[in-house]
Amino acid sequence: MRPTILNPLFAPVDSLPGVGPRLAKLFANLIGADEETGAALVVDLLWHLPSGLVDRRHQPTISGAVPGTIATLRVTVDKHRPSPPGRSRAPYRVQCHDETGDLTLVFFHSNAGWLEKQLPVGEVRWVSGTVEDFGGALQIVHPDYIVDEEDFAKLPLLEPIYPRTAGLSGKVIAKAATGAIEAVPDLPEWQDQSWIRQRKWMPFKLALETVHHPQTPDDASEDGPAWKRLAYDELLAGQLALTIVRSRMKKVGGRSRGGDGHLRRKIVEALPFSLTGSQATAVQDILADLADPTRMLRLLQGDVGSGKTVVGLLAMAAVAETGSQSAFMAPTELLARQHFRTIQPLAEAAGLSVAILTGREKGKEREPVLQGIADGSIDILVGTHALFQTGVAFADLGLAVVDEQHRFGVHQRLALAAKGEAVDMLVMTATPIPRTLLLTHFGDMDVTKLTEKPAGRKPVSTAVVSLDRLSDVVAGIQRQVEAGAQVYWVCPLVEESEELDIASAEERYAALQPVFGDQVALIHGRMSGADKDDVMRGFIDGTTRVLVATTVIEVGVDVPDASVMIIEHAERFGLAQLHQLRGRVGRGRAESSCLLLYKGPLGETSRARLEIMRETDDGFRIAEEDLKLRGGGEVLGTRQSGMPEFRVVRTGVHLDMLEAARDDARLALEKDPGLEGERGAALRTLLYLFRKDAAMRLIEAG
Ligand code: ADP
Ligand code: MG
Repeated sequence: MRPTILNPLFAPVDSLPGVGPRLAKLFANLIGADEETGAALVVDLLWHLPSGLVDRRHQPTISGAVPGTIATLRVTVDKHRPSPPGRSRAPYRVQCHDETGDLTLVFFHSNAGWLEKQLPVGEVRWVSGTVEDFGGALQIVHPDYIVDEEDFAKLPLLEPIYPRTAGLSGKVIAKAATGAIEAVPDLPEWQDQSWIRQRKWMPFKLALETVHHPQTPDDASEDGPAWKRLAYDELLAGQLALTIVRSRMKKVGGRSRGGDGHLRRKIVEALPFSLTGSQATAVQDILADLADPTRMLRLLQGDVGSGKTVVGLLAMAAVAETGSQSAFMAPTELLARQHFRTIQPLAEAAGLSVAILTGREKGKEREPVLQGIADGSIDILVGTHALFQTGVAFADLGLAVVDEQHRFGVHQRLALAAKGEAVDMLVMTATPIPRTLLLTHFGDMDVTKLTEKPAGRKPVSTAVVSLDRLSDVVAGIQRQVEAGAQVYWVCPLVEESEELDIASAEERYAALQPVFGDQVALIHGRMSGADKDDVMRGFIDGTTRVLVATTVIEVGVDVPDASVMIIEHAERFGLAQLHQLRGRVGRGRAESSCLLLYKGPLGETSRARLEIMRETDDGFRIAEEDLKLRGGGEVLGTRQSGMPEFRVVRTGVHLDMLEAARDDARLALEKDPGLEGERGAALRTLLYLFRKDAAMRLIEAG
């Protein structure tokens, strides 16, 4: 249970002074809503940190003020000049002066009564805003602040700029943030005291105050000590959670599953190729894990086309040798079917029985599969999430293989592990994950990399071409298709494009049909499973030469004969995603190419990004660049999947503290596995603050 001391922070934002139901809704758009209650919570305001500052510290005299800059000026009010009667569009002017000159304050559509109260004639006021030169006279249009001498102290000389949403002004956000900080109770320090001293970091609450109410630019800087402390808090919470998950999963125990190799040998014999060195090493790693009595938690990382499926299959065969079952889970139905097609003949060559289960298998088809899983006559079950729903009971599940893992979070890993006694787990990802992200998202797993590509892989030549040259491109493709090529044509979105001016896949398909006739087909995520199957079959058997697709083909689809990849609006994709897509070609005998079509004009960064794709085929380098340019969530695809992102940590700035956080987490849990001591209790608070509830439940389950 969450400590009650945190209740004020987990209350809805409308518990704060000045925030009513209307604003609460807007805040939910801005900072996200709680899954359970649907309300934005106070705690999330704490993490809504400024993206910049307005510097109002410059306090010149009127004659010293520079037009075009923000100044804070001490002036005496001379005269009000309201808009002439009947001309409400004309501005209301207030004339002011100091000993060096005159300044006019200009207001449009303003309430005269309010202005008279704010700016009484003859009195001194501080005004702050952007000074302008208007025909030789100095003016400020709608000053941001007007305060008297007494309230000058309340004027934020360094004013945080918050990321905003329609309807919420910066001032409203700042006020709510202030309320949120005031709601932070006295919390015990969860950081190691000597570490804090050494870093010269301030306490948690003070750090929040410092970032939200900066006195110097450093205070609100991502690089400043206050923000760093908060970022380290978040990193530590994440590493603690992963370490807890890992140790609990291991503790629940494994079984030793050392097979004798007789099934694996048959499969290897049935393969039309020999394993690469990397594949052989990966299989060895996995066999060692399986034989070990603790549970396997291994991540198999291998670039697109590096041959992960076979490794997964051999792992499943090893488990079958000991009489247990395996499940192979893919993120989409399309991939599940593809894996099934690959795995079935090989597994059957070894005498194993394989079945498929997705959301599509209903009633009659489903029954015998469920039966076979329950009585143990099915050795390998391939499928989607449907595998792990209730109602699917395995006789003896020994191994879960999860393909394209980055779409599944820690929660799913836990749910999956619960389907059997001491289930070993192998997860596979084609996203080359930079080391830092491995630690933040997969710190609970051991890692094997497939570094070699299967022999015969050819580099893909990549060109960046403007969409203006579309007709040339189509003519080029026509020539290639006549010469026997098969082509993927990827479009970013379906149907949602009217306002956004995105060429939808459907439009593209319609436009290509007159050229390619029935040799062009369309596949997208909104089609029924059966229709997708039909289209894929047409492309695999070669009747379809041009496949217009949305990103449904992004992960894992394998058609070795396809040799041309066209990506429309490449500038809208992440680099890691482009890399994935490009990896669909270059798998067969033919020379392969990739055309990145962009809509100009391109900004400098976009140009640089596409340039990287042209320069390198190294997935790791591309992932590092993507991380720098777009942040971790994009690399991992977590933003779409709803997996929690960092709130405070900025990947470009703070990840150098990650290893320290990991060591810290491990040490703390070694000393106090149940987090029961004094620091342990404080660390529990930290875990709750950053919503690591899944890890907390494990700790509490003991
Ligand atoms: P990914 O790692 O992207 O999942 P796959 O497992 O889909 O890669 O394999 C890609 C292709 O490479 C498949 O057609 C597979 O049969 C082939 N392949 C796998 N291993 C080898 C190998 N050692 N030698 C040659 N081809 C291989
Ligand atoms: Mg794959």
